Amino acid sequence: MPVSAPRGPRSRATRALSLASSALLLTAACSASPGASPGDDPTAALPLPGPGEDTDASDSPREGGEAASEGPLDSRVVVIDPGHNGGNAAAPDEIHAMVPAGPNQKACDTVGTETTSGYAEHEFNWQLSVLVRERLEADGATVVLTRDDNEGVGPCIDERAGIGNEAEADAAVSIHADGGPESGRGFHVIMPGEVSGYTDDIVEESRLLGEHLHREYLEGSGVPYADYLADEGLDVRTDLGGLNMSDVPKVFLETGNMRNPEDAALMRDPAWREQAADAVAEGLASYLMRE
Ligand SMILES: [Zn+2]
Repeated sequence: MPVSAPRGPRSRATRALSLASSALLLTAACSASPGASPGDDPTAALPLPGPGEDTDASDSPREGGEAASEGPLDSRVVVIDPGHNGGNAAAPDEIHAMVPAGPNQKACDTVGTETTSGYAEHEFNWQLSVLVRERLEADGATVVLTRDDNEGVGPCIDERAGIGNEAEADAAVSIHADGGPESGRGFHVIMPGEVSGYTDDIVEESRLLGEHLHREYLEGSGVPYADYLADEGLDVRTDLGGLNMSDVPKVFLETGNMRNPEDAALMRDPAWREQAADAVAEGLASYLMRE
């Protein structure tokens, strides 16, 4: 296991620069099982955010992306896709409409999962994505989010991929949380498999992105890799429109299992979300600054 840089009050730039060396330690040996798996956060119950959950998602996002400062990620473009949206449950017609997802079509979007206490995945995804954006912008990256807030509907999965393509992103990541079995915990990274005519151009780079993200998230988040699916936290799928329609390196990060009490307790903790955002940002920076 590579030695990770200590996390502390160092400047983002210093931390990110240190990634250049740690990235060299990466050895990719994980093989992933192809094909669909049952853990793609199912539409499950319609999540209605509970009134008691904290929310710090009211800060307004800057669509279009604007580098906040100079840093080691200057000139790099990252698209962060917070999975689902807060208005999806109330718009079934839009959400169920079929859209291009590669060789086949899939539903525009789903509503996502939630914790047993009612903390919705779409809200968690949004909150974590905003925190990741802050960190990447502090390192000089231009960051584009695929939605403006957590109140809307969609965008559809093909549009989410299209935003990354339009931005000519150097890396794109969809932030999700899984709705797996209560007894299973942990995170997994989903990378695109070979889909002729669709993912040929991104499979290799996406795998590299996935491996960097996997390593940093495993080290920094405190969440183990999933014990109920995937292969030590790495999965490959050919059925996800968000990956098949992407022309830029892209992966999904299923940050944990919302149905598991241990994972859910972390996700509901604002301090942990900061820690997780550090880890996600480090994974992206590590990939972007690789030799
Ligand atoms: Zn999801």
